[in-house]
Amino acid sequence: MTEEPLACEPGDERELCDQCGTLLLSSAPRYYSLVNDSSAVDPEHPASDGQRLLTACSLPHLQWLKDHYVKRPYDERELWAHKLSGQLRVRPAGTPLDEARRAAGLTREQLLAATYWSMERHDLRHRRGAAPPER
Ligand SMILES: [Zn+2]
Repeated sequence: MTEEPLACEPGDERELCDQCGTLLLSSAPRYYSLVNDSSAVDPEHPASDGQRLLTACSLPHLQWLKDHYVKRPYDERELWAHKLSGQLRVRPAGTPLDEARRAAGLTREQLLAATYWSMERHDLRHRRGAAPPER
């Protein structure tokens, strides 16, 4: 069974609940909250980097989402890594790393810390997927 894509008109205020995915039509009640999230980056709106706007269909779902983000560690190195990758994504292939770093507003030290953070994450994912050691 294929689902029809959701049609959206200009100015349509339909949204999805971030917890359950319920489609919130224009007239449906919805609840918002702004939370700290070091993975939230928008190269078009860098002033809001590190913050995520949650949308929910009900107060219990909003609370569930807020609880999730309160427990999630906020790591500036993650924020810097996402700021850099966001700038690399919106620029032509082959853009010098230093140009993307400057556009992301990062110092060289922050770029280095972000690179180490990314390498650590890659290493953790690799280890989790690796076979257990032989006895
Ligand atoms: Zn919901």
